[in-house]
Amino acid sequence: MTTHPLFDITGRTALVTGSSRGIGHALARGLVEAGCTVVLNGRDQQALDKAAAELGGAEAGVHTAAFDVTDGPAVAAGIADVEERVGPLDILVNNAGMQNRAPLLEFTDEAWRQIVDTNLTSAFLVGRETARRMTARGHGKIVNICSLQSEVVRPGIAPYSATKGALKMLTKGMCADWGPYGIQVNGVGPGYIETELTRPLVEDEQFSTWVRGRTPAGRWGRTEDLIGALLYLASPAADFVSGQVLYVDGGMTSQL
Ligand code: NDP
Repeated sequence: MTTHPLFDITGRTALVTGSSRGIGHALARGLVEAGCTVVLNGRDQQALDKAAAELGGAEAGVHTAAFDVTDGPAVAAGIADVEERVGPLDILVNNAGMQNRAPLLEFTDEAWRQIVDTNLTSAFLVGRETARRMTARGHGKIVNICSLQSEVVRPGIAPYSATKGALKMLTKGMCADWGPYGIQVNGVGPGYIETELTRPLVEDEQFSTWVRGRTPAGRWGRTEDLIGALLYLASPAADFVSGQVLYVDGGMTSQL
């Protein structure tokens, strides 16, 4: 089987934040299978070691870098360490994120800061630190994991939607600022995907049925559903695509 040269990303080096499990781990798997060297990130080194072993470990070009993406100095040290140990980053996937479902009137200051830091500030911190290096080299691909909720909101998830809507605009802003330096910045917007983050929703039979009913594809998304979109946006095939969010949601966004 041959790969069209436009889709060939063999030999690239990628960092995927929040890749010890869930969507990030699946995206890392996709990049490894496409021939990339991949750095897994999360806050728990043990979880990262396990996740790296599942993808074949150092022999398969899988490395780990434990740091908290909300902590500026830790991010700066983490990116410097990754580039020194593993090599210059060609691809960054800002995937780390969290959910906190609660009505706005019950949402505390601390909970607000935590979700904004985790879902939005993290992409700014890791993106800026990586782009400093990518702009100097004149090339790079950044993919921010947005959400169906970058476009819509339901009761009880306003803070999450606010962060993901802002992440969509940050994606466009990064594209504007860093495009002249040969960097393309895009988003992938997952619909409802079965992971630890959505477990309470998957287990809620009524909600789960609603998701299937509102999704033209008639099912929940699987983490593997997102791999193709990432590989496309990380490849030369997307060299003239920037500032876009590609929704991978079984058609749900268009139905809401
Ligand atoms: P999970 O909760 O399954 O995984 C989250 C990952 O992020 C873990 O690896 C976690 O590792 C890491 N992480 C969380 N906080 C930090 C931090 N401060 N620093 C470093 N790593 C961190 O989530 P999903 O895989 O479901 O979601 C991944 C992304 O996809 C998120 O941005 C989410 O908003 C987005 N998304 C998910 C959807 C879904 O339906 N699942 C739908 C739309 C978007 P650890 O806790 O060990 O640090």
